[in-house]
Amino acid sequence: MVVATSSFKRIVIKIGSALLVDRETGLKRDWLNSLCADVNMLREAGCEVLLVSSGAIALGRKQLGLPIKVLKLEESQAAAATGQILLARAYSEALGEYDFQAGQVLLTLGDTEERRRYINARETISTLLKLGAVPIINENDTVATSEIRYGDNDRLAARVATMVSADLLVLLSDVDGFYSGIPGKDAGAKRFDRIAEITSEIETMAGDAGTELSKGGMVTKLEAGKIAMAAGTSMVITSGKDLHPLKSLFDGGNAAWFDAKETPVTARKKWISGQMELGGSIVVDEGAARALTRGNSLLPAGVLKVTGSFSRGDVVAIVCDNGQQLGCGLVSYGAEDAGQIAGCQSDEIETILGMTSRGALIHRDNLVLRTQATRMDKSNA
Ligand code: GLU
Repeated sequence: MVVATSSFKRIVIKIGSALLVDRETGLKRDWLNSLCADVNMLREAGCEVLLVSSGAIALGRKQLGLPIKVLKLEESQAAAATGQILLARAYSEALGEYDFQAGQVLLTLGDTEERRRYINARETISTLLKLGAVPIINENDTVATSEIRYGDNDRLAARVATMVSADLLVLLSDVDGFYSGIPGKDAGAKRFDRIAEITSEIETMAGDAGTELSKGGMVTKLEAGKIAMAAGTSMVITSGKDLHPLKSLFDGGNAAWFDAKETPVTARKKWISGQMELGGSIVVDEGAARALTRGNSLLPAGVLKVTGSFSRGDVVAIVCDNGQQLGCGLVSYGAEDAGQIAGCQSDEIETILGMTSRGALIHRDNLVLRTQATRMDKSNA
């Protein structure tokens, strides 16, 4: 099935170590160059691309002459420290052929789970994308110890994809999709092209942590799929073994497509409207209330008053002067800053707060009006 690249605006691609690094010879430069040619193809088709790449430990262990055996945690961390430099340089050079800047982003579990750090990481990545760079993301292995690490880049990539509201997460694997058994071993192993939902039956097929099949990482890939699909991001597992893996995928190569039922925006709106505890409220004037019903974002100019204590990224109520609740939304400023810019024009924000403006107080994609919320409830029933 040929898939139009134009169906996707933002794609996260996860690259495993084995695809990029050969144990004997090191970095597979031809493969990397072909991947970057594919990234260029996607960019020319109007997609933004983020790469979540492993390979730091594999490159670093070779560089440091560490033996091919299971490494101690501190050895892996030392290997990652060395290898990440090589990895980032390799991407920077290969993407440079197409005049793309690479931006290295190293994340730990906490950066994707803790609200403030999550928002900061998302802002940095979004800014890189706005500036036309290609974010190259990996786990910050040098500081991530066993209790506080992802350990696998499948789930990290899924969290990154949901963080940036990507439409698609591509997991480049050493198998060309999802099978009901072990391909090449189980005679009746059937390949699935499309998976609408990750059911317990599907999970059983992935095997468990101890089986041969799970070494291809199907267990963590399904975990990644659950994270992605719940946030409106579709996922696809395909083989990355040959050159030009992304071109092959979109030309109709073997793959397992996990289709999200909604878009990242609708999934987020559903989450927002389900929040019971609101940090505070923003009282708006009639003009702003009308603008909101027409689908606009909430600007500071239409704000009469800010009440309660909330931080940037919290869900707050939007109310009219007469106390009637219009809806709720994810606010881009904390209560103190919001109070200071209430009633001001957007171009005054920078002078008042002494920092670059974050735009609207509540962006329309982060805002749910009561009328919309009722429609969402009905569609859920
Ligand atoms: N972050 C590790 C590395 O770059 C790899 C983790 C994984 O392969 O999932 O070497």
